[in-house]
Amino acid sequence: MKVIPFGPPNTGKGTRISEVVEELGDQWEAISVSSELKKEVKAQTSIGQEAKRYMDAGELVPDSIILKIFLERVQNATKNVFFDGFPRTIAQAKAMLEAGIKPDLVISLQVDQEVVLQRARDRIVCTACGESYTKISPFKRAKTEGICDKCGGELRQRNDDLDESVVRRRLEVYEKETKPILEFFESAGIKVCQMDNSGPNAREEFKKLVTEN
Ligand code: AMP
Repeated sequence: MKVIPFGPPNTGKGTRISEVVEELGDQWEAISVSSELKKEVKAQTSIGQEAKRYMDAGELVPDSIILKIFLERVQNATKNVFFDGFPRTIAQAKAMLEAGIKPDLVISLQVDQEVVLQRARDRIVCTACGESYTKISPFKRAKTEGICDKCGGELRQRNDDLDESVVRRRLEVYEKETKPILEFFESAGIKVCQMDNSGPNAREEFKKLVTEN
């Protein structure tokens, strides 16, 4: 099964995915193009250096780079998968379908813009494994401040969360480039569900959509 959690940046897609993967055990895995990009950035490869310029500015990395990474990663998947942050353009969505990769379900996560901005101020991520935590709200604090519970890595704010103008730019890019994919999916006969991702029952609701579809 292939599921795409869909929504603006900082909607909580990654959090929902990591909770469900933890709960449902080893039948599921997440494919995150942005984690793969961050590995390239860390290793200072030529792809990483090119991608970093776009990522730090809140722009999308060119489709040619993204598709190469995505298609390679998807070929190695052996379980049910969540696509985290892919596709983000109609061209990526089309290329995915042309490669014979058809999602079974798209879960469109709704969150108010103010909440999205607040989450960007609140989020810190592990520089080693990418796990996210909150630094202000009590929602998901690390047991030891500044240290990842899972791997002991250092927690920091993401570069693209630090500057609010970059966060706003990512939202604009989402509206223009990414949101139209929902209609494209519907016209391709792919099931799209909506859910509010800010309420207290969001975790359960997300799991229910994944397991009952
Ligand atoms: P994320 O961690 O998912 O918010 O992604 C961080 C950044 O990585 C984005 O702002 C983009 O610059 C880049 N990125 C991640 N996924 C994609 C994608 N599917 N298409 C283009 N750029 C992407």
